[in-house]
Amino acid sequence: MPRQRQTRQRIAIENVFDLEPRPLGPAEVLDLARGEVPKLGIATVYRALNDMVEEKLLRVVELPGQTARYEKTGLQHHHHFHCRKCDKVFDLEGCLLKPNYKLPAGFKVTNHEITLSGTCPACDPSEEPEDVRGPSPVTDPH
Ligand SMILES: [Zn+2]
Ligand SMILES: [Zn+2]
Repeated sequence: MPRQRQTRQRIAIENVFDLEPRPLGPAEVLDLARGEVPKLGIATVYRALNDMVEEKLLRVVELPGQTARYEKTGLQHHHHFHCRKCDKVFDLEGCLLKPNYKLPAGFKVTNHEITLSGTCPACDPSEEPEDVRGPSPVTDPH
């Protein structure tokens, strides 16, 4: 297939990652890109994100139990912070892994990913998110 011409939609989607330099989910990309292209649809966003991953402009950020986020390639080694309240993912600068961490003999690390979770400065830490509140006292009616 011939390489697709740069459409207005695609440019708007690319710009989002400069506007908001942190890992973004498709819904966030849609929201932000709609500032430029109000009629943008989610299918176009998914297609553009997939294309950009194939073109190695973006990489997929996998978070356990979460929808995939996307970030620009070529960033320095860093870690992620997931806010459990607003569901945003942020970059943390530098490496959190202690260099004196001892591995069993014979193991060699070539890569690692660390995701911290909690609340971001915009969210209220006193209200705990649903899923860490412990077992519900309500009994199952079945
Ligand atoms: Zn937050
Ligand atoms: Zn690290």
